[in-house]
Amino acid sequence: MKIDVVSIFPEYLAGLKLSLIGKAVEQGLLDLNVHDLRDFTFDRHNTVDDSPYGGGAGMVMKAEPWALAFEHILGEGTGGTSGEGTGGTSGEGTGGTSGDVEKPILIVPSPAGPVFNQRIAEDLSGAEHLVFACGRYEGIDQRVIDWSAERFDLRLMSIGDYVLNGGEVASMVMIEAVSRLIPGVIGNPESLTEESHEDGLLEYPIYTKPARWRDRDVPEILLSGNHGAIARWRRDRRLERTAAVRPDLLAELHDLDKHDRAVVE
Ligand code: SAM
Repeated sequence: MKIDVVSIFPEYLAGLKLSLIGKAVEQGLLDLNVHDLRDFTFDRHNTVDDSPYGGGAGMVMKAEPWALAFEHILGEGTGGTSGEGTGGTSGEGTGGTSGDVEKPILIVPSPAGPVFNQRIAEDLSGAEHLVFACGRYEGIDQRVIDWSAERFDLRLMSIGDYVLNGGEVASMVMIEAVSRLIPGVIGNPESLTEESHEDGLLEYPIYTKPARWRDRDVPEILLSGNHGAIARWRRDRRLERTAAVRPDLLAELHDLDKHDRAVVE
């Protein structure tokens, strides 16, 4: 999978070089490019924002640097209509999107978008090319978002009902959630199957050695070696936990059997 991220703080994304995502990049499972939006500006101050039409607090990100950055990522032309430059210096183009080739997916993090979840992460993990546009200030001029919809499969995406200062952290959240689902990124793929949100239930409580720690014992059943009983115990804990903290998730599950229902009622 190819991932491009555009930000005025490219150093924010350095965390993606660590741990499993960093390894996936080293192994070539992920082709990750971070672009500095200011590379697509041509004035002395590398201006990316201006005051909002209609008044109001805060600044708005200008359309043209974003358009040039997107064109560069798509390998389109020499940097748009301004005639002021070559469309930046960082990252590599992808060779365009003509014909019936799948359009790259452009994700614009925004608290005004639908909320990202595990289903969306699974869907995105099958994509060939994701582009993340990290807004700052009050956000990005709507016209370039509308314009980008002609070139990309455009998705506004929130990571939750709260407001961050910029799209970098939100993009990293989504990149991590998506990348770990790409075959080969997680060493043992079985560790993905019983996770919270995988099948609509939250994960059961987990324990490791020693069996007794500060007078607290590991639940005896986990030491029994009885795999059937352990699986039942774990499912019961998942059901209880989900019913206690996320009844909204439980309400969406339609395959609970009699035993399951007895646990949650
Ligand atoms: N004026 C915007 C609004 O009211 O919807 C908020 C702008 S916020 C200060 C700046 C940027 O942070 C946004 O453009 C977006 O990229 C990012 N952001 C903030 N909260 C987010 C969230 N919950 N999910 C995804 N991105 C978020």
